[in-house]
Amino acid sequence: MQIYPSHYINGQWLKAQSSQVFEVVESATEQAMATVPAGTQAEATQAVLAARAAFEGWSALSAEERAVYLDKISAGLKTRIDEMGTAIAREVGMPIKLAKAVQVGGPIWNWANFAKVTRGFAWEHKVGNSLVVREPIGVVGCITPWNFPLNQITLKVAAAMGAGCTVVLKPSEVAPVNAMILAEIIHEAGVPAGVFNLVNGEGPVVGEVLATHPEVDMVSFTGSTRAGKRVAELASQSVKRVALELGGKSASVILPDADLEAAVKGTVSACLLNSGQTCSAHTRMLLPESLYEQAKPLIAAAFAKFTLGPSLEETSKLGPLVSAVQRDRVKAFIKQGIAEGAEVIAGGDVDAGFDKGFYVQPTALRVKPNDTLAREEIFGPVLVVLTYKEEDEAVRIANDTIYGLGGGVWSKDEAHAIRIARRIRTGQVDINGGMFNSSAPFGGYKQSGNGRENGVYGFEEFLEFKSLQLKA
Ligand code: NAD
Repeated sequence: MQIYPSHYINGQWLKAQSSQVFEVVESATEQAMATVPAGTQAEATQAVLAARAAFEGWSALSAEERAVYLDKISAGLKTRIDEMGTAIAREVGMPIKLAKAVQVGGPIWNWANFAKVTRGFAWEHKVGNSLVVREPIGVVGCITPWNFPLNQITLKVAAAMGAGCTVVLKPSEVAPVNAMILAEIIHEAGVPAGVFNLVNGEGPVVGEVLATHPEVDMVSFTGSTRAGKRVAELASQSVKRVALELGGKSASVILPDADLEAAVKGTVSACLLNSGQTCSAHTRMLLPESLYEQAKPLIAAAFAKFTLGPSLEETSKLGPLVSAVQRDRVKAFIKQGIAEGAEVIAGGDVDAGFDKGFYVQPTALRVKPNDTLAREEIFGPVLVVLTYKEEDEAVRIANDTIYGLGGGVWSKDEAHAIRIARRIRTGQVDINGGMFNSSAPFGGYKQSGNGRENGVYGFEEFLEFKSLQLKA
């Protein structure tokens, strides 16, 4: 078991003040794999002040100088891909092959891409008699979840550092090991002291210092809508900028003229990635009522391909859920759905067949629009199937949620799919299984958030505008 005794503050590993620790539990074995210290308010404050002190020097570097550090961090991650992929597979549960490709491959690309964005950014332009300049917002508090832990960290920290901000990161207490490895890489890259700080700890302790401290200019939060609301409320007292990336309940709308088999397969894959623990997972399948009987065996067959297996086995398609809490929550949802009258298409309230590990049998249920499972974010391998009679009804159901993160539309006629996609109130819509694009803006409408991440759009979140009025 790996014991991490310190926080990373002002360029140094400082021994934690409190003896309280978080045990990181391996999803497939239920064994403790590491401990990280539970930070105190004093340590969080110390990190904020270190970031404040480092801001002037870091923001005065040229974009090129900052970009060189970002490239070094990308290269450092590349050399530790096996170690990082293994750590994330163990702490989150995602099968190792996918974890390396998605959970580490994504961040390696994103650190390098933010270096490119930093170099190529138009930092100033003229409007009338004004020179409009873009400047970093200052000290940024980054609070992140456990599901794609390193990528969520990267989308904030790399963008903020490239923009010229300094950072205090509080990673998820459920999956913090990847963040400790990243801090080692950042240290080895020679990033000046105080530019990046890492304090582990509980949301209500360390996270709330970041949300309230007057020396923090911006909080960038990814996590549940419940915690995001709390962060925004606290941050409002000092008028911080708040970027929120929250939950989702995304719909995949299969139109009557879609290639049904491809649409079903694509939707099931977009639902089950990371065992459904993906904020933008397509967890609601909307089918024309007339195609339901035809689609049912296709859904069952697509689910049958996602066999459960231990995270460290190369052949596993789907791993366990992250924790006992998450497993119990998801199983309770499945039970409730069946009790409310859902029809089981695949899986159901059954034992996944493992002695150890937080496994849940992937499950597809036919439900009605007002059922609990059609409305709540489940965050597990559960697809709900809803049927509609007319296109307008499909759009209405897709939008009938407090969330607005993602979704999909399937049709043989792309222009038709795009027309429907424009009516869906979410931040992104995949047309016929169109691939995720890390350069395109990612974020939510409605209660899925108010920020955008990825590429230049994510980068600009960390900038202010300043107008210099010039004498003609
Ligand atoms: P969570 O809200 O429980 O925790 C997220 C982070 O917030 C953690 O670091 C936690 O310690 C911290 N936190 C909790 N309470 C806090 C408080 N009062 N003040 C400050 N910080 C606090 O979420 P989770 O279970 O880690 O992640 C799952 C959720 O994240 C899902 O709802 C998912 O949809 C969402 N998510 C959204 C996106 C997106 O980009 N929109 C991406 C990934 C995950």
